[in-house]
Amino acid sequence: MMTVKKSISYNLSDLLTKIKVNGGRVTQAKKLILEIFLSNPEHVTADEIFDNLVLVLPKLNISTVYRILEELENNQIITHTHFGHGPASFELNCDLHSHIICQICNTTQYLPFSIFENLANIINKKYSFSLDLSHFAIVGTCKNCMQLQSNQLQNK
Ligand SMILES: [Zn+2]
Ligand SMILES: [Zn+2]
Ligand SMILES: [Zn+2]
Repeated sequence: MMTVKKSISYNLSDLLTKIKVNGGRVTQAKKLILEIFLSNPEHVTADEIFDNLVLVLPKLNISTVYRILEELENNQIITHTHFGHGPASFELNCDLHSHIICQICNTTQYLPFSIFENLANIINKKYSFSLDLSHFAIVGTCKNCMQLQSNQLQNK
């Protein structure tokens, strides 16, 4: 999928310790999933993780992947975002950001929360509502697609 420029400040043994502290068992599948997140700072879906892991662990079940992702999320090791109509995409829970995605070509960009600071403050004060700026991507139209649309209009 798309590349995120984020600095990963975790390592495998820290994360395994976190799992054990929270009462979780360390399994080979869990270790491999953590390695995917650590080595590949992109958003991945459960299906992508499964396709990767089943090569190494042929007996693996997709429901195991879902269970592990849920546990990692409960331990705040990973977090997920919904991009448009696609499935949830998971990433390490560090350098959190907002996502914008083009509805036409699916190009995704990452924005720091600070961009929404004024908006978030206004909504918080006026509506007593705290925005979650990472759970869902904001949809719109990218520069290229806007250009294409205006060219098409001109050629009509
Ligand atoms: Zn992200
Ligand atoms: Zn686009
Ligand atoms: Zn969700």
